[in-house]
Amino acid sequence: MYKCARCGKEFEELPKGQIRCPFCAYRIVLKARPPVTKKIKAR
Ligand SMILES: [Zn+2]
Repeated sequence: MYKCARCGKEFEELPKGQIRCPFCAYRIVLKARPPVTKKIKAR
């Protein structure tokens, strides 16, 4: 997950070969980790 530092929108992938927001084309994109995933124990 990535998050734009300008418009704050989150997106899963960046455009190929480009590090910029697909919404506003801002160059600074922050890495945002997905929500905490709970591991399910197998019984
Ligand atoms: Zn943006």
